[in-house]
Amino acid sequence: DDLADLRRKIEALDVGTEERKVGVREWRRLKRIPQGSVENGVIRSYLEWLTSVPWPSTSTPASASLDILKDHSFLTRARAQLDADHYGLDQIKRRLMEYLAIVRLRAIADAAAATSAPPQTEGNGALVPASSVDKVVSTSHSASPQKSKGVKGPILLFVGPPGTGKTSLGQSIAKALDRPFQRISLGGVRDEAEIRGHRRTYVASGPGAIVQALRKAGRNDPVILLDEVDKVGHSNFHGDPAAALLEVLDPEQNHSFNDHYINVPIDLSQVLFICTSNTLDTISAPLLDRCEVVELSGYTYDEKMHIARRFLLPKQIQANGLSDSQLALTDSALLHIATMYTREAGVRSLERAIGAVVRYKAVEWAEHLDTVVAPSSNEEGTVVATKSDWHAIVEEDELEKILGIPRWDGEEREREEKRGVVYGLVVTGMGEGGILPVESTVVPGAGRLKLTGSLGDVIKESGEIALSWVKTHAFELGITAGRGIDPLKVPDPIDIHLHLPSGAQKKDGPSAGIAMICAFVSLLSGACVPKDIAMTGEVGSFDHYFMIASDFVVEITLRGRVTPVGGIRMKVLGAHRAQIRKVILPWANRKDVEHDVAPEVRREMQFFFVRTIDEALEAAF
Ligand code: ATP
Ligand code: MG
Repeated sequence: DDLADLRRKIEALDVGTEERKVGVREWRRLKRIPQGSVENGVIRSYLEWLTSVPWPSTSTPASASLDILKDHSFLTRARAQLDADHYGLDQIKRRLMEYLAIVRLRAIADAAAATSAPPQTEGNGALVPASSVDKVVSTSHSASPQKSKGVKGPILLFVGPPGTGKTSLGQSIAKALDRPFQRISLGGVRDEAEIRGHRRTYVASGPGAIVQALRKAGRNDPVILLDEVDKVGHSNFHGDPAAALLEVLDPEQNHSFNDHYINVPIDLSQVLFICTSNTLDTISAPLLDRCEVVELSGYTYDEKMHIARRFLLPKQIQANGLSDSQLALTDSALLHIATMYTREAGVRSLERAIGAVVRYKAVEWAEHLDTVVAPSSNEEGTVVATKSDWHAIVEEDELEKILGIPRWDGEEREREEKRGVVYGLVVTGMGEGGILPVESTVVPGAGRLKLTGSLGDVIKESGEIALSWVKTHAFELGITAGRGIDPLKVPDPIDIHLHLPSGAQKKDGPSAGIAMICAFVSLLSGACVPKDIAMTGEVGSFDHYFMIASDFVVEITLRGRVTPVGGIRMKVLGAHRAQIRKVILPWANRKDVEHDVAPEVRREMQFFFVRTIDEALEAAF
């Protein structure tokens, strides 16, 4: 019976281990408790869980994983796997190869230490070329083989907007290592128990997500992807999920992870954890400290076309029962989908839209089969799809019928050149870059500034700073008759209302500084900023702040420094998608454009790098 079954499972655990002792003790209790009682059920399901955790004794022998790592073609095959699953991403793949090289060396060093062989380079030297040993040792945090027992390579953290390949890169890594892949979604986890389980005293208790993932993996060394680590809750009356997460990821502690339900220390040191997040802003410092950040910023249209052709379209065609020879999309149709129906950093909506097109065509095919191939016409009585006699090519002009009216059509045309309106560059909470209008208008009032659009303190302050700057330099800008005269109070007293649209979205940070100055200058002077220009930059330096705080102006030139801002890569890519062709950026951000922005995007855009506010105004007007 199943009591004997449980017993067999317990006996499979290594003698002398904690899990075996606890298992035996609970099994004895179970025997004494009447069948069908609540208590009986509770112990029974506990033992089921206890014995299904992949303990070292019951899971795949570590030597199997080690053999894969030791194989001298491991790195070559890993690279081939990454290439087979993903187009482009060259820099990122190179980082991942370094990471895998470290994983490999650590594992080999661990194994050598475990067999108590003196930790010499003899084994390593033979397996890897000397140059790669040097590189790995210099980038690893703890290179000492004696201490390396249980110490993993750094934990990878993939950061980037939705649909840029974070999850699928994690899957590729698991495939390269030939280990099971499990995903744990941490978005909105408020309760520590979701990570480390409920104590058994709790009704309907059970283990947490880590143990569940291990059980599904069936091995103690899977690749576990922790999705959305930035969205995990912090200390509250349900415990502290963020702290539990840190413990899971800490190589000093995770060899004896304590799930409250299992209540026997579990060794997580063989698990490869990979984290993902949409932005870095909301990740706690201690977590960031443990991770090696790999940034995925998004794709250009050119890259998206390749990804769509090579990966997304074939996948959808196959998923819908068609074959490659039956359905094709023209280049212009694909590009039209990418530019007019989706406008994202990643390829998630693009994939969805392509899926919709393919499904539409699959239905047409099915209807065609119904009319042409009558079920009775086949001798064996089954419908054999004669694929060759039906095929379709989807052209651009058919898309509206299938996908509806393009979401982004005419957005560029709608964007108007208007007094008081300037386009700023933003990065959303999802890590996606784009443009956002900074709109200012004038209402009768008394020289005040009103700010709306879900603005945080920092962005509000930069609005104040921007207006102060414009007031102080009003005379030189030609928007008031004399020095020291407030342009908002003469001749008719006014208030300025500054609004940043899409009110549901929270906005903060100092990077809209120069956009706000340009908006105010435009509003008060009547000059407009062309609609194909967008800008970002902080109005900086404290001494400058003092200068504008005094009411009279000594300086005639429009000085005032523009200081660097973050997210340049995403912002520029977003602006490019929105058909912006001129961007104004802080001088100090030149290196980011040079390093991080793809050459094909750079070629199509014009950059104005400005050191001072007057340079910014010159570029804008
Ligand atoms: P999210 O933040 O929403 O979880 P993600 O970054 O995890 O997004 P994925 O699920 O990995 O996104 O990718 C979305 C889809 O796009 C997947 O089908 C993936 O295979 C595909 N994809 C992304 N990047 C590439 C690429 N470079 N080459 C081929 N396919 C890609
Ligand atoms: Mg994902």
